[in-house]
Amino acid sequence: MSKLNELQAYLVTNEIDAAFITTPDNVFYFSNFNSDPHERLLGVMLFKDAEPFLICPKMEMPDVIAAGWQYEVVGHEDTENAWDIVTKTVATRNTPFQKLAIEKAHLTVERFEAIQERFENIVFVGIDEKINAMRIYKSEEELVKMRKAAELADYAIQVGCDAITEGKTEMEVLNEIESAIKAKGYAMSFDTMVLAGEKAASPHGTPGDRKIQQGDLILFDLGVIYEGYCSDITRTVAFGQPGEEQIKIYNTVRAANENAIAAVKPGVRAMDLDKIARDTIADAGYGEYFTHRLGHGLGISVHEFPSINGSNEMVLNEGTVFTIEPGVYKTNVAGVRIEDDVVVTSTGVEILTKFTKELVIL
Ligand code: MN
Ligand code: MN
Repeated sequence: MSKLNELQAYLVTNEIDAAFITTPDNVFYFSNFNSDPHERLLGVMLFKDAEPFLICPKMEMPDVIAAGWQYEVVGHEDTENAWDIVTKTVATRNTPFQKLAIEKAHLTVERFEAIQERFENIVFVGIDEKINAMRIYKSEEELVKMRKAAELADYAIQVGCDAITEGKTEMEVLNEIESAIKAKGYAMSFDTMVLAGEKAASPHGTPGDRKIQQGDLILFDLGVIYEGYCSDITRTVAFGQPGEEQIKIYNTVRAANENAIAAVKPGVRAMDLDKIARDTIADAGYGEYFTHRLGHGLGISVHEFPSINGSNEMVLNEGTVFTIEPGVYKTNVAGVRIEDDVVVTSTGVEILTKFTKELVIL
């Protein structure tokens, strides 16, 4: 069953007349059309018992068809009111339009009011939970893309390691990484982080003109998009021989990462994975320096469901992809994070990111 058919079946079961999907990531998920329209309206209108349509800026209509959308596509120009076109197209379906499912976590108040004004007596219900539940499960077709995205992330870390020389700034290293990925024809999943020395130990560090020095730990956090799917990797490497406590912190974070990964299998709860990593770090005496959740779901969005944190009781099943990224940030001593992308398999875990976790000393 296609994703669109599955959502339509959900509308039928729950007696919802239609669903209007407007976040670009979800539009891509259901239509294979990948675009960020900024403030312009892009959406998929799915009906319980009529043919869906996709509304987009007129200039993008050919791309929607090229992406494989098999139903009606309606375009709007900048001089038109897109909601007039939505209203008109809904009317052509001749089907009840009272109970409408929307993405409550994302639809702006402005758009909410526009719908309310045009359709009398409309009742809204949330579709977020259903879509999140669908997106948590990755098909083999999606996993193929995520493996490729992870492979490109591994490559980007290698480029970063090769770029490190004394006196180069974080921004210069970052630029070499992003240029290498762009040269291959790909985009990053988010702004690349290259943080050196005390910058890596600050939870809010941003890359700048800090120059690489002997004895620095350097933290890379980056990801690449492959055919709409994101990777997200962190590696921390040393420039010159690291000190004793830096090595201890590195080994602690690595053990936390590896212990949590070893526990991944169908049926494990998100909170249990978080606890395993947190206990490993606390046992080494660094508990207070691990200041964030263990990880997050990954896919079309770089952060999606499920959240891997200490209070999420969700049971993880085969096909769920998420990050495992423990870190220790001890001011003026070391900032270390090691992040991998993993998928739950029928028997355990597959690690998508493969760059070495041995402490690399450059
Ligand atoms: Mn990351
Ligand atoms: Mn991450």
